[in-house]
Amino acid sequence: MSTDLLRKLGLDTHERVVLEPVGDETPERGIVLSENPATGRPIAGVRLDTADTYEKTMAHAAAGFDRWRRVPAPVRGQVVRAIGDELRKNLEPLGELVALEVGKIRAEGIGEVQETIDIADFAVGLSRQLYGLTMPSERPEHRMYEQWLPLGPIGIITAFNFPNAVWGWNAMLGAVCGDVSVWKPSLLAPLTALATNQIAQRVASAMGHEDVFKLVIGTDPEVGEAMIHDRRLPLISATGSCRMGRVVGSVVAKRLGRCLLELGGNNAIIVEPDANLELAFEGIFFGAVGTAGQRCTTTRRLIVHESVVDKLTDRLVRAYKQVTIGDPLDKKTLVGPLINERAVEQFLRAVGKAREQGGEILVGGGRATGDGLGGHFVQPTIVRVPASGSLPIAHEETFAPILYVFTYKTLDQAIAMQNDVDQGLSSAIFTTSVRAAERFLSPAGVGSDCGLAYVNLGTSGAEIGGAFGGEKDTGGGRESGSDSWKQYMRRQTVTVNFGASMRLAQGIEFGATS
Ligand code: NAD
Repeated sequence: MSTDLLRKLGLDTHERVVLEPVGDETPERGIVLSENPATGRPIAGVRLDTADTYEKTMAHAAAGFDRWRRVPAPVRGQVVRAIGDELRKNLEPLGELVALEVGKIRAEGIGEVQETIDIADFAVGLSRQLYGLTMPSERPEHRMYEQWLPLGPIGIITAFNFPNAVWGWNAMLGAVCGDVSVWKPSLLAPLTALATNQIAQRVASAMGHEDVFKLVIGTDPEVGEAMIHDRRLPLISATGSCRMGRVVGSVVAKRLGRCLLELGGNNAIIVEPDANLELAFEGIFFGAVGTAGQRCTTTRRLIVHESVVDKLTDRLVRAYKQVTIGDPLDKKTLVGPLINERAVEQFLRAVGKAREQGGEILVGGGRATGDGLGGHFVQPTIVRVPASGSLPIAHEETFAPILYVFTYKTLDQAIAMQNDVDQGLSSAIFTTSVRAAERFLSPAGVGSDCGLAYVNLGTSGAEIGGAFGGEKDTGGGRESGSDSWKQYMRRQTVTVNFGASMRLAQGIEFGATS
């Protein structure tokens, strides 16, 4: 299966892919092994970049930028359109590679590549709509307007759990904006990165545009740190944990660079007493169990009105007991593995803490074992928070399928509980009351404090058309739709005097009075 997939994507003959070290032998230095989390076995090795090869890549990126920024934006859009078409042709194998390498189920792997295709389509339209404002000048015979200009080579750092789409959000928009991308993927998903970047690079080169999509695969100390310190990268767009964001944010701020941070979440769903409970169940089930709890938008906390909490948790527990855990590439599977053994240990640690802190494990709580579960599988877990309402571990983002259930009496109390975490990514309410929904979305800003707010939908599964990102420790960045493109360009305010006299703003008189 894996060799077939690598062949379909042209990775079997890729100069950076090493097919041999797939036994238990220690990989030679300079190679990272990509593992299948469903088996714990290596798929292939990938040769790592070094400080030297990073420098070479950056030299190409700088030269590429100088050419690419001169290409008119709508023509850049045509290159992105062709990349979208090529991704369409490779949708299934690339989606399957995502599933194989990071363990999300096949439908979600394919959905992820579809997201990149969608953002490519969005970017094509955008390539004719990089609008600047025109504003009236206070001076006669003057004209004022804004123009948006390419920013430079941009650094893209991605997390393991969206090894294709997060690159797409950044690289497709950046490309129509006139930027060259330098992508550093997670070392847990190097094969998806090679396959994805190879498609973009091949299409762009065939259309006469070399060096628009660059890739560096290396360790954080050698390549990641070099990137974030590199003044040739005016923007670093980094997706990952809050811990990483603190390091990257402070290094880039020190050199007065621009940072776009998309970090961890601790997302909640509020369920009002008047909610359609079946609808709520469906939103919670996908939000909490989907992608084995490894989405930044995964539902981690459920805040349920005390009058419906028993009914809703009973329904969830029944569904959790029947969920199919197994090979992500098997169509029947709903829950695949965690990414590695470290993630399993963190899951077990969180469950242990929840117990110590008075939480009641309603379902799950351990490793998932049995036939075909030789990899890093865990049981989706529901923890009931003690009557005191205090469970410190629920304030942490554990990247695994653990759902903490809180109860409340009033909506104000529920909103305060939802906001009472460090992260501010995604939030949702299930209700049939307009008053409750609007209270949650309060235009005064006293409702949900997150970047994403949903009514009668779960916390996961954003569309690309809206700006995506979160507040507080989630980092404040916005990627994908709406006007996120502005972050990939620099704004220039232009004033033209087409008269014959020099007039100063604010009516200031200055100079010789002969
Ligand atoms: P991680 O923080 O371990 O790694 C993310 C990326 O940062 C990797 O490419 C890693 O190599 C790189 N990195 C780490 N330290 C670095 C340094 N000092 N310099 C340069 N690069 C460095 O995250 P992960 O485990 O891969 O992903 C899971 C996390 O990502 C979760 O917290 C999840 O919520 C978050 N995430 C957020 C979003 C979002 O849009 N908000 C999307 C996906 C994932």
